[in-house]
Amino acid sequence: MKKLRQEEKIQADGKNPDKHMDEHVEKVNIRCRKCFMVEGYFPDETACKHCGAIIYRIDVY
Ligand SMILES: [Zn+2]
Repeated sequence: MKKLRQEEKIQADGKNPDKHMDEHVEKVNIRCRKCFMVEGYFPDETACKHCGAIIYRIDVY
């Protein structure tokens, strides 16, 4: 019984296509208009990681 349970767990681990959906959110390299630093940003990020200025999605580097 115990062995069968283990196999089930392995199957569940190998079966992880759901996680792929999370990784679908890709970072976009955007150049800050203020400090000109290029950094990868997620779609929900709106502020520069270096100076805090607003970053614009159209500034894709
Ligand atoms: Zn900046």
